[in-house]
Amino acid sequence: MGVSAAAAGGSRVLIVDDEAVILDILYEHLNTRGYECVLAQSSKDAVAALGEAEPDLLITDIGMPEMNGIDFAQAARQSWPDLAIIVMTGRSDAGSAVGALRAGADDYVMKPFDFDEMLICVERALEKRRLIKENRSYSQRLEDRVREATTDLARANDQLQQAQDYLNRLIHSTVDAIITVSAGEDVNFANRGAELMLGYDEGGLLEASIGDLYIGGLEEARYVRRVLAADRPLQNYETEMRHRSGEVVPVSMSVSLVPDAQGRPAAMLLVCKDITEQKRLERELKEMTIRDGLTGLYNLRYFYERLEAEIERAKRQKHPLSLLLLDIDKFKTYNDAHGHLEGDRVLREVAKCVSESTREHVDLGFRYGGDEFTVILPEADEAGAMLIAQRLRESFAARRFDLLTMSIGLMTYEDAHTARAFIQFTDTMMYDAKRAGGNQVTVYRADEYQHKAGTQTAP
Ligand code: GH3
Ligand code: MG
Repeated sequence: MGVSAAAAGGSRVLIVDDEAVILDILYEHLNTRGYECVLAQSSKDAVAALGEAEPDLLITDIGMPEMNGIDFAQAARQSWPDLAIIVMTGRSDAGSAVGALRAGADDYVMKPFDFDEMLICVERALEKRRLIKENRSYSQRLEDRVREATTDLARANDQLQQAQDYLNRLIHSTVDAIITVSAGEDVNFANRGAELMLGYDEGGLLEASIGDLYIGGLEEARYVRRVLAADRPLQNYETEMRHRSGEVVPVSMSVSLVPDAQGRPAAMLLVCKDITEQKRLERELKEMTIRDGLTGLYNLRYFYERLEAEIERAKRQKHPLSLLLLDIDKFKTYNDAHGHLEGDRVLREVAKCVSESTREHVDLGFRYGGDEFTVILPEADEAGAMLIAQRLRESFAARRFDLLTMSIGLMTYEDAHTARAFIQFTDTMMYDAKRAGGNQVTVYRADEYQHKAGTQTAP
């Protein structure tokens, strides 16, 4: 009997037996129950039918003359893992049945069999294979889902890591210092900019308290926190921080509170810009605005500012304060004779005389305008001021710019006077000195209004 297909519908069953009668019986019973049967009586037919018909179930006899049913079942199982396999064996050959089960058969039926028993066996074997197949596809789907989820998770993780790396690079590549402070006073984050600005090694700031970093110490740190708590973020607050070496770092600082996940203020965020260079330029600019370009002495504008301040200080500290106003005698003549440039040199020499004759870091020399100069002498009484004035007058005369000399008015401050009167009276003294022939110092005294002293003729 060759390979033949019968009875359409249901599962497809390949029945292999060398006995035609068995094939017939099984065919008849199974076919009527809706199974599509393929029959094979020889090993060649059986192998061909397995490949061509792709059956759902193989029912094979074990003891066939030209083929070993166990080997066949085993080969079939290896090639067709979803194939249901039932072996038929004689009652005397139970051992072969066990061998067949080991070789991959799902069940066995003893010959002669009762057909109902065979039918149960067929249904059970098919059900078992269906379940195994379903289970496998379920496992496969599950595995696919897990793989997908794992891939998604890995991708999300990767993106998160990239975002975090990017933020880290941003935070650490700015030259500004970024520092966060815990609810207490400990630094709990500092970027590279902060470490470089304040001279700490990597991670070194994490051992610092914010009080160590302000020049104003813990008191300033607490003040900043109080302002924040009561008010709003602090913007461009100019202060000074302490470099690890002890040096002062001027900074412009913005401070705000960082909320936790519940919105409660948790940490304090400080963003600090080093303004050392800005401060240096400011100082330079300020110097330029208060200095006279020709002589390098302070200028008139700054004279008024300082005189007011020194008067206030003298009153407060009850210290004496003296003022000199000096003018070169007959400078115009010298200018005309030697030229303006040479005149300029004389004016610069007056500045030198002022700095040589006065107390460094105490007295302040100003160019009042033209060939007039003033000198503020803090904490100098009349006698002290007179010594300085005479020294100044002499040191100028000794320079021998032809017969150039200077007239000096001197006044020691008295409480009732305004700055304006102070200048005016000193100026009057200078003119008195000039009127009296020049090259002398004239002192203002309230009781006698004027009093000349130290009059000398040029050497
Ligand atoms: P007096 O004895 O009364 O002081 O008269 P004087 O010749 O010194 O002249 P006065 O003080 O009235 O005027 C100051 C002169 O100084 C006028 C001007 O020619 C000169 N002068 C003013 N500023 C400069 C300057 O920047 N450079 C030079 N070379 N000369 C100046
Ligand atoms: Mg003059």
